[in-house]
Amino acid sequence: MTAAFPLPQLAETPRDAREKCGVVAVWGEPHPARAVYFGLFALQHRGQESAGIAVTDGVRIERHTGMGLVPQVFDSNTLARLDAAAHAREARHRGRPGGAIGHNRYSTTGASRPENAQPFLASIRGGPLAIAHNGNIVNARELRTSLEDKGHAFYTSSDTEVILHLVASLSRGRQNDPLAEALRMLRGAFSLVFLSHDRVEVARDPWGWRPLSIGITAAGNPVAASETVALDVLGARHLRDVEPGEIVTFRDGPAGGPPLIETRRFADPAPRLAQCVFEHVYFAHPASRIFGQTVQAVREKLGEQLAREAPAAADAVLPMPDSGRSAATGFARASGLPYREGIIPNRYVGRTFIQPSGDERATAARLKLNIVTDLVRGQRIVIVDDSVVRGTTTRGRMEQLRAAGAREIHLRIACPPIRHPCFFGVDFPDSAQLLAHGRDLEQIRQTLKVDSISYLSLDGLLAIAAGAGAAVEEREKFCSACYSGEYRIPIPAQLSKDVLAKC
Ligand code: SF4
Repeated sequence: MTAAFPLPQLAETPRDAREKCGVVAVWGEPHPARAVYFGLFALQHRGQESAGIAVTDGVRIERHTGMGLVPQVFDSNTLARLDAAAHAREARHRGRPGGAIGHNRYSTTGASRPENAQPFLASIRGGPLAIAHNGNIVNARELRTSLEDKGHAFYTSSDTEVILHLVASLSRGRQNDPLAEALRMLRGAFSLVFLSHDRVEVARDPWGWRPLSIGITAAGNPVAASETVALDVLGARHLRDVEPGEIVTFRDGPAGGPPLIETRRFADPAPRLAQCVFEHVYFAHPASRIFGQTVQAVREKLGEQLAREAPAAADAVLPMPDSGRSAATGFARASGLPYREGIIPNRYVGRTFIQPSGDERATAARLKLNIVTDLVRGQRIVIVDDSVVRGTTTRGRMEQLRAAGAREIHLRIACPPIRHPCFFGVDFPDSAQLLAHGRDLEQIRQTLKVDSISYLSLDGLLAIAAGAGAAVEEREKFCSACYSGEYRIPIPAQLSKDVLAKC
C-alpha cells in the first residue's frame, strides 16, 4: 500500500475535549466537493480541530485537508479544484460526476496533529481508496502490531489508518469482499465512509455506537452523514439509518438513471446494541434525528423528567448556555417555574481567543459569558445543564452567579454523573479528572459551591432515550458505560494508556 500522507512521529494524543467526529458522503451530485463542504458545515459541532474532503476523478482521488473549522480549511478556489476532479470524471463517464466524502475531526487540547486530519488516502490493489471515520477501534493496537509484523508502515497515530491497512492487506488476498472481511475484524465503534474511483461505501459497526443516516436528494442522488441535519442542509430526504453491521454502496446507475443504492451485511447486529446515549444528552445537533428520535424533543423530556425526580423550591430556571437550553425548557415546563435567559454567552470567544496570563484567568472566564444581574440578584435559581465532565467550568460559572447576587443556586444536571472513561469515540478526560469519579453527591456539591445538586437517574435517561411507550428491552439498546461502568465489550487493559488517536 502506498500511503499519501507525510511521515509523522507516533505520539500520545491528549484526551480532554468533548467533541468527536462527523462524516459526510455523496454520490452523483453535480458539485460533490461543495455538497460535502455544506454537509460538513452542518456537522461542525462534531469536531473543530480539522476538516477534509476527498473527491474522485474516476481514476485518482483528490484530497484536501487542513487544521481549523470547515470555512477556514476550504475556500472557493480549493472547492473548485476538487470539483474539477469530479467534472473530469463526468467528462469521461457520460455525464456522471461521481462522489466525494468528508470529515470533521474533534478538537483536542495540546498539540494539533495535521497528519491525523481525514479523509486518509491510500493506493491499494484495485485503485485509490479514501476513508473517514467516526468512532474508536478498541482493538486497533493489536491489529496494528499484527500488520506491522507483516511489513505495513504506518504514517499517522490514528486508529483509522489501521482500517485502511486492513482493507489493503485483505485486498491482496483471495477474499471476494475484503471490505466486509476487514470490518468483521474490528472491535469498537465505527461509522465509516469510503470513496473509491467508482463508488462510495458507508458502514456502521454491529453495536450501532455512532449514528449514520442515509438520505436522497430531489435529483435522486444518495447522501450519507453522521446526522440528519447535514441531510437537511443538502436538501436530502432522510431515508433511514445505516443498520448496525450493514454496508451501503452508492454507485452509478444504468445510463440516464439515478445512482444505485445497494446494501449488504458484513455482520449481524450485536445481540445487545450500544447506541451512545450521550449523543442525545450532548453531542448531536438538536434538530437531528438520532436513533429514531429528534434530539431536541429528547432533551426537553430529559429536563421534564429531571424536574419530576429532583424538584427545587426556587424563583426561576436558568439554562447553562448553550447546551443546557433544551433540558432547561423541559424543566421549566414540568416544574411550572419561569424560564429566564440569565446567562449570556459571548458568541465571539472562539479559537482566536488570546490565552490569558495567570492573573487574567478570571477575566477570561467572565469574558466567555455575562450574567444578567437583575434576573439573578436576590433570587433562588435553578441552573440546568446537560452534563458535567471535569466541573472546572461549572464551578467558575457558579462563582459568577454568586458574585452577581444569587441567593440560592440549585444545580440540576440532565444526565447521571459521568464516572468512567469512554472507549467508543468520545474524548472524555481520564477518570481521575472527571468531577464525579470517586466523589459522592455531597462532595460534588461542595466542590461546585452550590446549595443543592441533583443528577437525572440512569433509569430516567434510558427510558426517555428509548422513547415513549417503548418496552423496557429498548433501554438495553443504549450504551451508558460512562455512567455505569458497564462496557458492552471487553476493554483491553492497556487501552486507557494507548497512544492511538481516536475519532
Ligand atoms: S461510554 Fe458514554 S459517551 Fe461513550 S459511547 Fe457509551 S454512552 Fe456514549
